[in-house]
Amino acid sequence: TVWTAAENRYETMPYRRVGDSGLKLPAISLGLWHNFGDDRPVTGMRETLRRAFDLGITHFDLANNYGPPAGSAELNFGRIMREDFARYRQELVISSKAGWKMWPGPYGGVGGSRKYLVDSLDQSLQRMGLDHVDVFYHHRPDPETPLEETMRALDHIVRSGRATYVGVSSYSADLTLEAQRIMRELGTPLLIHQPSYSMLNRWVEEPVAEADGKNLLAALAECGMGSIAFSPLAQGMLTDKYLDGVPEGSRAAAQSSLNPDWLTEQTLEGIRTLNEMARDRDQTLAQMAIAWVLRPQEQGQVTSALVGASSARQLEDSARAVRNLEFSADELRRIDELVTD
Ligand code: NDP
Repeated sequence: TVWTAAENRYETMPYRRVGDSGLKLPAISLGLWHNFGDDRPVTGMRETLRRAFDLGITHFDLANNYGPPAGSAELNFGRIMREDFARYRQELVISSKAGWKMWPGPYGGVGGSRKYLVDSLDQSLQRMGLDHVDVFYHHRPDPETPLEETMRALDHIVRSGRATYVGVSSYSADLTLEAQRIMRELGTPLLIHQPSYSMLNRWVEEPVAEADGKNLLAALAECGMGSIAFSPLAQGMLTDKYLDGVPEGSRAAAQSSLNPDWLTEQTLEGIRTLNEMARDRDQTLAQMAIAWVLRPQEQGQVTSALVGASSARQLEDSARAVRNLEFSADELRRIDELVTD
């Protein structure tokens, strides 16, 4: 039997315009960096993706190297896409990226050459069984390749129909402004920037001298781009899961991308206080951490919070953040005091 999505799936999730574009993204999006590789059963992934869509999460974020092994997240997603989501393709915004090592030899990544980007996206499309992605990103800056070449490659990728929009990830404010200047000249403006951002990682708020003192959010507002904040839960640190130690099966226990040494007593102390604040707001800490990255700021606003989830239940919890996205000035001040040292 074919899976059918919930009829009320568009009733609770807010959709927010991406910069000056015509596209809207859900306030909360789902990323497939962890939990979608061949180290996990497909049944769990399927359940998480179905629940996501039922909750109005219309955006799934991938990359060539997500797994493990690299490529397997796109393969597993492609299978679920084919089996469950084929008839919902137009309701989804699917993204992929290239920028990290993907295949052996000089053309397989750690770069931004036209050859690598185009060949990698062709591989990604094949793995996912799609004829195009909605957003394709250069995954990280490459100081060795002229920016002009990388941007021309992104322009070509859109013109050739492989992607509907393009974006960049982890570019500095000044490099983003320069990239967008090139893209406007080419006629294919960058849609979106994907930076890391959470209460424990606030680089996007810091003024950048090379960008005339603007921070990344201000630079994005100036050049008409939106943003999607990755790891808003600091990979799980901004939830209640590590308050009483490192639970089995957690990302910190796996010692892969979340180093358990980051959970110092001082950090945990702050997280405990944040957890109490969240409780006073009738939210879980995960929900408050998501709401916080989405808050309006003087310089600009994040469009979507890009979370990960190792179960459908976690995602359900995170998605409920949209029930309270408001912060009082006092709450914001207390959070600043706790997370700035
Ligand atoms: P998060 O900060 O949202 O961390 C997700 C992890 O937090 C989960 O795997 C889970 O940990 C835990 N968690 C999630 N929800 C809850 C909850 N409600 N309660 C308790 N614990 C919870 O984001 P990620 O680091 O996973 O990154 C999200 C996405 O961002 C990626 O999938 C990817 O798409 C993108 N990304 C992009 C990068 C880039 O360079 N552009 C780099 C990194 C990420 P556990 O597994 O321990 O249960």
